[in-house]
Amino acid sequence: FKLPVIENEPMMAYAKGSAERAKLKEALDEMIAQGTQEVPVVINGEKIYTGNKAQQFNPSNHKSVVCDYHQADAALTEKAIQGAVAAQAQWEALPFNDRVAVFLKAADLLSQKYRYKVMAATMLGQGKNIWQAEIDAAAELCDFWRFNCKYAEEIYQQQPPKNAPGNWNRVEYRALEGFVLGISPFNFTAIGGNIPSAPALMGNVVLWKPSPSAVYSNYLVYEILVEAGLPAGVIQFVPGPAEEICSTAINHPKFASLHFTGSTKVFKKLWADVGKNMDKYVTYPRLVGETGGKNYHILHPDLDKAGVHHAALQTIRAAFEYQGQKCSACSRCYVPKSLYEDFKASITAEHAKITQGAVEEFQHFSGPVINKFAFDKIKSYVDHAQADSESEIIAGGKCDDSVGYFIQPTVIKSNNKFSKTMVEEIFGPVVTVFVYDDEKFEETCQLIGETTEYALTGALFAKSRESIVKGSNLLRQTAGNFYINDKCTGAVVGQQPFGGARGSGTNDKAGSWTLLVRFVSMRTIKENF
Ligand code: GLU
Repeated sequence: FKLPVIENEPMMAYAKGSAERAKLKEALDEMIAQGTQEVPVVINGEKIYTGNKAQQFNPSNHKSVVCDYHQADAALTEKAIQGAVAAQAQWEALPFNDRVAVFLKAADLLSQKYRYKVMAATMLGQGKNIWQAEIDAAAELCDFWRFNCKYAEEIYQQQPPKNAPGNWNRVEYRALEGFVLGISPFNFTAIGGNIPSAPALMGNVVLWKPSPSAVYSNYLVYEILVEAGLPAGVIQFVPGPAEEICSTAINHPKFASLHFTGSTKVFKKLWADVGKNMDKYVTYPRLVGETGGKNYHILHPDLDKAGVHHAALQTIRAAFEYQGQKCSACSRCYVPKSLYEDFKASITAEHAKITQGAVEEFQHFSGPVINKFAFDKIKSYVDHAQADSESEIIAGGKCDDSVGYFIQPTVIKSNNKFSKTMVEEIFGPVVTVFVYDDEKFEETCQLIGETTEYALTGALFAKSRESIVKGSNLLRQTAGNFYINDKCTGAVVGQQPFGGARGSGTNDKAGSWTLLVRFVSMRTIKENF
């Protein structure tokens, strides 16, 4: 068989007066009119209303509850694992094209039928504006589902190139023996969808624990997979308390893999828990994680005025789109002294154009941060900068959680390259600028790699090829996704495989064949004739 041609999902512009804008507004209004949604646990195709409910709030207006979701406990988690393990043989035995059909169909359903609904849930529940919701819940999720099929097809075609006379060598790509625990974050509905789908495509069964702050959109994604023909039990939808669900899963002899996106701290803790249980498992588990970052932009002194303006604009976008809540967001920026005045003028002028407000208002660049915990944490960094004698807030700095969790996009200038806001992950709309001496470009590149444990994304802005080559070499280990004269966010599936090394993850790039390879276990077969 041959896959249909796989292309990136075309993105819509949502210009004022456009048909897509009207349709999205309609979906959003309908969702708001329906009020609080009810989300079950789903095990073996059965919707279970456990009665042990928790709530997902609208971060633009925290009095409004997006959904009441029923939580799984240890006993239900065990039931989900058993059901998944029982479903595996049949799922894995399906011809690859039939597994592919489920995910290609899911992408078409999302693109054509459910786009606005999933976007509306992402806007209301996760605080994304229209364009960020389109990038994530529409385009990127379609792309993950479709490009995974293409990459999987390429993997399955890989066979040993040689046979000796009288024998035939081949390999089979088996699913992992056991189940995959999938833990997804709040910040991308697309990652929510990809966390269980990538392993499932390769014939695995998955226990999917969505983030408490993204349950509703993730449930809609799950329902799309079911409508597309995903058999019962292959992906079990188990929202609920992380500790209880994860410890039940990680203590289980059939635990075969963790597919995780979230904080470095949690991933390390889960890794340690797996280590403690090693003797229980049938097989060595595959641990796949995409975690934190302290991503950077660095400007080379050879930039001209237009180059500096471009870098400032890209810094605003990378630091403040989706309120800096992308693992890839720019959080520190290194500017040579000779360019700083121009940089500051551009960044403050661009900053002045930013408006902030509830995402339902359909017009703001900036929305709320996800919840009270995030608000308090991010605000503590802004407060720190306000009090710190070595820091100066050059734009923004206001925080208000009276209605929604609003932190004004904030630019800090720090005279200390090791200041708290220069080295710690903040995961919010705060970027800190450090001004370096023009002759210290090399040292500054060195510093970038030494001041944090992370290596997720980074960007170099430079004019001459010589500076690009030099910076790129010096910064080689500091980012899994490295950009030259572009912002450090916005990797596109099929174009820039995404992931980081060091404390930022296992670098098994989402949106690439290297991720899918983690979810298969080869069997080599040699047959003598
Ligand atoms: N892939 C996204 C980007 O390049 C970031 C994903 C994440 O936040 O985990 O911006």
